[in-house]
Amino acid sequence: MNAMRLVAGIDLGGTAINYTFLDEAGHFRIEGLCEHPARSVDGPEVCLTQIADGLDAAARQAGIDLGQVVAVGLDTPGPASAKGVLSSRGSTNFIHPDWAGFDIRGGVERRLGRPCVYLNDGNAAALWGHVSLFGSDNRATSLSAIIGTGLGGGVIVDGHVVTGRLGFGGELGHVLIPFHSIPGIGDITPACNCGRIGDLESLCSLTAIRRTLLPHFLAKTPGHRLAGLDPAEAAKRVRGLAADGDPMCRAIFQVQARALGLFFDEMINVFDPDALIVGGGAIEASHDFRGWFLDEIRAGMPSQRSEQAGIPLHVIPDGDTAGARGAALEAARVARS
Ligand SMILES: [Zn+2]
Repeated sequence: MNAMRLVAGIDLGGTAINYTFLDEAGHFRIEGLCEHPARSVDGPEVCLTQIADGLDAAARQAGIDLGQVVAVGLDTPGPASAKGVLSSRGSTNFIHPDWAGFDIRGGVERRLGRPCVYLNDGNAAALWGHVSLFGSDNRATSLSAIIGTGLGGGVIVDGHVVTGRLGFGGELGHVLIPFHSIPGIGDITPACNCGRIGDLESLCSLTAIRRTLLPHFLAKTPGHRLAGLDPAEAAKRVRGLAADGDPMCRAIFQVQARALGLFFDEMINVFDPDALIVGGGAIEASHDFRGWFLDEIRAGMPSQRSEQAGIPLHVIPDGDTAGARGAALEAARVARS
C-alpha cells in the first residue's frame, strides 16, 4: 500500500516549537497546538535535537508514520535571510552566541534528512491567513499584519509570498505612516527598535504599548490602576482591560487600530489587494472587542475610492497554529512545483 505523502510544518520560537502535518488533500492532521520545548538558549545543536525529537512526538500524536513526510516547512522569527540564515547580529528570540549567522534551514534539512523550505514567522502566518480565505490554489493578493511583541506580517501577490531579494519582503512593521493625523496622538514621538520614528511597529505592537502609548496615556490619566506597575507587566494587561471597556486602555487600542488603518490605506494604493488580514495576540480577546477593533481600523482609513471602500478585512483563524500551518503550506507548494 502506498501511504499518502505528507509535509510537516515546524514553527520554531525562542521557547517552544509547534508542529503540524498537511496531507495531499490539503487537510491538516493536527487540530490545535502541538508543542515541544525549543531550548534555544542552549544553542543551535541542542535546539536541532529538540526539533527532531518533537517531530517524532508530533507524528505519534497525529498517528502518522514519519516515512510519509517528504518535505518540511520551517518558520522562525527574523531577522533572517530568504534562505533561512539568521542575522549575523543575532536575534532577540535566539540568544545563544552560536545562533549568530546560523543556517537554521540547512541545519533542519540535514538533521531531518528531508528538503526544508524557510519563511519568517510573519510571512508564514500571512500565508496561512491567505490560504484560509482563498484556498491553496489561488491567484489572490492579500496583506496581513500580525500584532505581537513587534509587528510582523506578509504580502501575498497572486498566491505567492513576497520574500524579497534579501528576505525582508513583508517587513510591514517598519513602513512609515503619517501618524500625526491619528486623533488623540498628541505630541508623542513613537520610536522603533529599528531607529525609525513613526513606523507601524512603533505604534502598533506590545512594545509600542510599553514604550510609548502606555506612558503617554498614563500621564494624562492620574490614578489609573496600571500606574506604578512594572511597565512590561502593565503593558501586557492593557488588552484585557481594553476588552473589559477600560476607557484609557480602549484609547490605546484605538490609536493602534487607527495606525493600522493608515497603513492599510497605503497598501491598498500599492497593491489593490483582494483582502486585508489582521492577526496576533492583540486581537485574541472577546468577539465584541475584535469587532470593535476591526471597526476602528476601518475608521482609520482615509476615504477610499467607491470601488475599494468595501475591501474585506479578516482575522486570521487559529492564530496559535498560523506559523506552523503557513510553513507546511509553503513546503507543499514547493514540493508540488
Ligand atoms: Zn521599525
